Amino acid sequence: MNLKELAAHIAAKFQNHYGRPPRWIVAAPGRVNVIGEHTDYNDGFVLPMAIERYAIMAADSPPRGSVSAQSKITVFDAHFDETATIDITAPVTKGSPKWSNYLRGVLAGFQQRGVKIPALDVAFLSTVPLGGGLSSSAALEVCTATLMEAATGERIDPIEKALLAQQAEHDFAGVPCGIMDQFISALGREDHLLLLDCRTRQTELVPMSDPSVALLVINTNVKHELSGGEYAERRAQCEEAAAKLGVKSLRDVTADQLEQGRARLSEIVFRRARHVIGEIERTVHAAEGIRQNNWPTVGQFMYASHYSLRDDYEVSCAELDAVVEIAEAIGAQGGVYGCRMTGGGFGGCCVALVQAGAAEAITRKIGADYKTKTGIDPTIFSSRPAAGATIIKG
Ligand code: ADP
Ligand code: MG
Repeated sequence: MNLKELAAHIAAKFQNHYGRPPRWIVAAPGRVNVIGEHTDYNDGFVLPMAIERYAIMAADSPPRGSVSAQSKITVFDAHFDETATIDITAPVTKGSPKWSNYLRGVLAGFQQRGVKIPALDVAFLSTVPLGGGLSSSAALEVCTATLMEAATGERIDPIEKALLAQQAEHDFAGVPCGIMDQFISALGREDHLLLLDCRTRQTELVPMSDPSVALLVINTNVKHELSGGEYAERRAQCEEAAAKLGVKSLRDVTADQLEQGRARLSEIVFRRARHVIGEIERTVHAAEGIRQNNWPTVGQFMYASHYSLRDDYEVSCAELDAVVEIAEAIGAQGGVYGCRMTGGGFGGCCVALVQAGAAEAITRKIGADYKTKTGIDPTIFSSRPAAGATIIKG
């Protein structure tokens, strides 16, 4: 479903559930990171893209007659057929069901900024796969914040909106995420990627309007349960490298400086740092390649990113590697420019840059070959760079 169809769909769900049409409809997209992996906590760059998958909400004020309805927000999850009731007469707290905490956190953020939360009837659903590394959580948060804008009539700066959503994820979902997911969901623009400097929070929209290319998102449909400490361990290794090289973060180190300081680092810490430093550079260069519609070059940076994540950072896995190998075998002749794992690693998704005209054939080929290699059916969809959060009605 495209966004227009999705809006009609959620409006019908609202009508069905509440017996009247919605007054507001808002949406916010999920995202895929095209390049710049494990760079965010090293003060580096990331280059995400909003995907044509959205959290979407339809809403209205409760009917005037019902007094009790004026003290709460009722949220009907039209996909899971489950309802959350959020008391707005006091500071909003954590509660059940679990997913309501993503909304509660955002409402609490508005309250902390002195906004009086209006009573609402809401219906929502999401076409962002849940827990698949495409940031259904940020989509839900940013969508909620956008609903607050629509219902109060007060717009907030999109960066402030993203930070408020990030705070909700920290405090109400207990996930100490960086700024990428909420920034792209709030600030994305159609036919653009977002180059985000995680140190300064400066953003730059990078045009990608060439209709001859598309991005494929390939979900391996595996998520390896690890002992749990891998992410913290990588972060600690990066901090160790920075400390031993005498800088605040690896953002401050060039490839040459790393080589000069090599003797001060253990072999593993050296390789971790080499990934981060190389990846920050690749991300900036890839953005330049995109500005110039230089797809073969962008594709090469994506492959290089994957090898580095696989060999130096060691966060890939057999299934992610299988997808990249299949993509490489299809190659430029078959319409694949580049492919890499995306997200934290150890499962989840790959992202591939492909010729739009060949996207369907490539999807079939990757689907079949991945199944043969791993015994698992992947989930694959293509997306152009989508718009960030929008008020569709209201
Ligand atoms: P990701 O953000 O990569 O999808 P997370 O674990 O951060 O993965 O967030 C997934 C969680 O977000 C789900 O487990 C669920 O609690 C919540 N969520 C997001 N969208 C919805 C939805 N449409 N309905 C119910 N829960 C949702
Ligand atoms: Mg998430």
